[in-house]
Amino acid sequence: MQYRQRAWAEISFDALIHNVSVIRERLAPSTQFCAVVKADAYGHGEELICRRLYVDGIRFYAVSSIEEALRVRKWCPEAEILILGYTSPECAPILAVNRICQAIVSEEYAAALSGYANPEAPVRCHIKLDTGMGRIGVQTTDETDCLAEIRRILKHPGLNVEGMFTHFAVADEADTDNRAYTDRQEEILFRTEQAIREQMGVTLRHVHCMNSAAICYRCQPKSTLARAGIILYGLMPNAALPVPLNLKPVLSLYSRISHIKTVAPGTDISYGRTYRAETPMRIATVTIGYADGYSRLLSNRGQVLVHGVRCPIVGRICMDQMMIDIGGVPDAGIGTKVTLIGQDGDDCITADELAGVYGTIGYEVVCGISKRVPRHFIENGILIHEDTLV
Ligand SMILES: *Cc1c(COP(=O)(O)O)cnc(C)c1O
Repeated sequence: MQYRQRAWAEISFDALIHNVSVIRERLAPSTQFCAVVKADAYGHGEELICRRLYVDGIRFYAVSSIEEALRVRKWCPEAEILILGYTSPECAPILAVNRICQAIVSEEYAAALSGYANPEAPVRCHIKLDTGMGRIGVQTTDETDCLAEIRRILKHPGLNVEGMFTHFAVADEADTDNRAYTDRQEEILFRTEQAIREQMGVTLRHVHCMNSAAICYRCQPKSTLARAGIILYGLMPNAALPVPLNLKPVLSLYSRISHIKTVAPGTDISYGRTYRAETPMRIATVTIGYADGYSRLLSNRGQVLVHGVRCPIVGRICMDQMMIDIGGVPDAGIGTKVTLIGQDGDDCITADELAGVYGTIGYEVVCGISKRVPRHFIENGILIHEDTLV
């Protein structure tokens, strides 16, 4: 390490590869692993994550934009890449040249993409069905209309439809109503696939529906791809529902103590004077804040670990700094490491725990860690790659 950074994230390849192997064990032989690496691999660092997964043999990646897809193409030259979200139709030639698959969300979109595509070099596509998520995709409320729309999509020149998929809205819920809802979503997908095969003579290479929650709670061997996102990174699709896989969180977040003081009773801490010391207290300043993606909503609510001891955050979290009560850690000093997410001694704070404190999901916690926080990569306990921002 050239110098000691004020805040940094550690990404454990050991945990990542462990998660890949427990997920793989769960999948039927008919199902291929698809790593969802959108949003900078859920904030973990797209390039290093993709390259490591590629070395581990993962050959299918899902992203949310063409920019992400083109970068993944660099890290993973022979991989299949599927864009789950919108791509401007003008990009058809770029998609074709880079062998990137695009989600087709409607006949209107298929027509637009086809307009820019070259029939000599078709754009690879997966049709997206909206079976109940209500976000994007061909409407499936009326089976006849749906099949008619698919028939029209298939007729557009310059598009090579290789697959079809849908996305579950509540696969992470255990109650009967939500389970029936997901059953219905799944049933529509596979019934539509059968109709395409029988009525249009088209066999699709890929038909898929599984996200992390489905992999955990309703593994479906008919799904040719398992789009593993959050569980790949060792977090839970729904923190309230136990995951039947032994996952390990991949990301840890650390900072340091820059200043320590003892304050007298009556001392106010931070903006807004939302915290007042009632007794003499030892207060440490930590060099991380909301500009690093550590949410201000954790003000006066969150905890961190110092030498394995939980210390409460006192007062409002500032842009680049925050204060903690280190009364329980007499040996803390300037430069002492502070664990905001991760294991320290016998205790551990997970992104899912933090999410619970301020009412969000672990996904948002890890995706929100900002770019100014360098990511360091650890394998076999050794630092193998350091993000140097200068
Ligand atoms: C983000 C996303 C996934 C991955 O979801 P997880 O819950 O993280 O597994 C899968 N499919 C689609 C369409 C997505 O947008």
